[in-house]
Amino acid sequence: MGMDVSAPLLPVPRKVSLGGSQVTIAWSDGHLSVYSNGTLREACPCAICAGEPPAIGVSRVIPLMVAAPEGIAAERYSMVGRYAISFAWSDGHSTGIYPYDYLLEMCECDTCRARRTGRKVGEGGLISEGRR
Ligand SMILES: [Zn+2]
Ligand SMILES: [Zn+2]
Repeated sequence: MGMDVSAPLLPVPRKVSLGGSQVTIAWSDGHLSVYSNGTLREACPCAICAGEPPAIGVSRVIPLMVAAPEGIAAERYSMVGRYAISFAWSDGHSTGIYPYDYLLEMCECDTCRARRTGRKVGEGGLISEGRR
């Protein structure tokens, strides 16, 4: 009763599950995040994957990771401090550190997708006509 759901405190992961094709994270606020392995791998925020600005004198910038390898999977995860999770991938990469807010932002669950596209489920339009 009277719990403010929009409290500014970030939820923390309660349970991280690595599956064959996706990673799910159950957050302390009850939210269940879903990420496909490929998406999560491609979103790796480490300097190598995210591509640092080239040093002076480097003439070409070729992103090392354009698309995640087929069948990529997270093999292990570890908590980094109290703010992030790092994943060890089946391609041997494990330097990416995913902060909680980054993970929450890229959550692929239906709710977050809908919010991102600015569409409110059940508010006009979706269920229309023909029911009366
Ligand atoms: Zn990386
Ligand atoms: Zn979500």
